[in-house]
Amino acid sequence: MGCAVARELSRFRVKAAVLEKEMDVGLGTSCRNSGVLHAGFNYAPGSLRAVLDVKGNAMMDDLCRDLKVKIKRIGKLTVALDEEDEATLQRLLEQGRANGVPGLEIIGKERMQAIQPGVEGYMALYSPSSSIISPYALTIGLAENALANGVHFHLGQQVVSVTPLAGNGWEIGTKSGERFTGTVVVNASGLFAADVCRMAGITEYSIYPCRGEYYVLDKRLDGTLRTLIYPAPKKNAPGLGIHLTPTVDGNILIGPSAEYLNDPEDHSCTYDVMAELRREGKELLSEIRMTDYIRNFAGVRPKQTPPEVGGNKDFVIEDRKELKGFVNLVGIESPGLTSAPAIAEMVRGMVEKHIPLLPDPSFNPVRPGSPFFFSELPADERAAMIADNPNYGEIICRCEKITKQEILDAIKNPLGARTLVSIKYRARASMGRCQGGFCVPRITRILRDEFGWKPEDFLKRGDSSPMFVGNVRPKGGASR
Ligand SMILES: Cc1cc2nc3c(=O)[nH]c(=O)nc-3n(C[C@H](O)[C@H](O)[C@H](O)COP(=O)(O)OP(=O)(O)OC[C@H]3O[C@@H](n4cnc5c(N)ncnc54)[C@H](O)[C@@H]3O)c2cc1C
Repeated sequence: MGCAVARELSRFRVKAAVLEKEMDVGLGTSCRNSGVLHAGFNYAPGSLRAVLDVKGNAMMDDLCRDLKVKIKRIGKLTVALDEEDEATLQRLLEQGRANGVPGLEIIGKERMQAIQPGVEGYMALYSPSSSIISPYALTIGLAENALANGVHFHLGQQVVSVTPLAGNGWEIGTKSGERFTGTVVVNASGLFAADVCRMAGITEYSIYPCRGEYYVLDKRLDGTLRTLIYPAPKKNAPGLGIHLTPTVDGNILIGPSAEYLNDPEDHSCTYDVMAELRREGKELLSEIRMTDYIRNFAGVRPKQTPPEVGGNKDFVIEDRKELKGFVNLVGIESPGLTSAPAIAEMVRGMVEKHIPLLPDPSFNPVRPGSPFFFSELPADERAAMIADNPNYGEIICRCEKITKQEILDAIKNPLGARTLVSIKYRARASMGRCQGGFCVPRITRILRDEFGWKPEDFLKRGDSSPMFVGNVRPKGGASR
């Protein structure tokens, strides 16, 4: 959300900065989700989640075009298996229409089969505006475009204090000891929003982390799902239920589960949930083979409701009256990804009450580049690019067919993020079948050649994840 807000503010003549505790953007929840743009029928009319989801979804075509982010408008079937589900679909249809969701209709078995052959159930709510998107490309695209338009990004800066200044404005202290001042602070710290609130003296919020685990399936099954297929949601469930989600890059996700935790950053995947996801996945798509499971991951929902209550609360997006210039975002769980551009506009309206925002005529909404990877381009275009630059002729990630030039572009990203995960999120290298077995040694060699790094300089995702530990033997030399 911070990147969407930063990009929105970069349209104006204002000095803005993002403080991020990790060594890259998108290492929190924003890249650990289903990548679905929700249509907006699941949320109570008039709620922020309903209004901002429908608005955010409608904004995505232009935003993705400008930021070079893949989006596929594949629609969704929410399927009824029994009479209770049927009543749920009717309720969702009415709710969706009240929320202004376009094109919603209830369809029977024949149309369901035409949309997705073999789908279970006898009735479905069809929502054509439900879509899929690359959450990595969106988050990174928003950040890079904000940077290009003048926003400062301070990575590896964990906020530890938020103190009002005498008169007007705020001082933000970080773990590194650096201090930043500003007239307005926007708290967009996701799972840690309640902690940052407490730093500013706001005590009424609590976040209950709720983990969702996923399996990622091999691209062998690409094209099997033409649309999103969800079960009819159950009352007070913490999520929308386990489902199959195709990704814009051709994988399928199974998940997410829902389990409350104490540690908001516990992204581990557990044996029991994996077994359950395999069982449910096979039930939903019988073609799945054991060898199709190539990876698992987890994301954590910043819930405002404890396990004994369940369900969801509405987003909190507020301009605190008693704390001048403190704009606060709490409990931005699903559909936060879909709502991001609309939330950013709402936050801009709040910021504008404290600082005059004059449009910056030099703002350029367009990010250079292409939403496509080299291997997705037509053959004649690829041939011309290789003739011009031989680095396009060298494959580094064999599974995803990612070239040396794409790795170099990812390494030289404008934000200066240099971890293996930063390269993975930008170039897709190591996201394929072998999960880095082939490309990671080659990427480390490119990093060594580019920066002259020693083994201890290589990080997977941050300071606490060195790639090489222990006794490292330099080539042809003695161990150290
Ligand atoms: C399993 C799951 C599935 C989901 N599926 C969908 C979906 O399909 N569609 C949809 O619309 N939404 C979905 N969501 C919701 C969506 O992912 C979130 O709403 C959204 O990503 C929240 O963004 P955020 O910026 O608030 O949080 P984050 O992305 O977590 O960003 C917060 C950032 O603040 C940083 N930070 C925290 N504390 C500090 C500090 N003290 N100092 C400096 N930096 C700090 C973090 O490192 C992080 O980068 C899903 C969520 C989950 C968990």
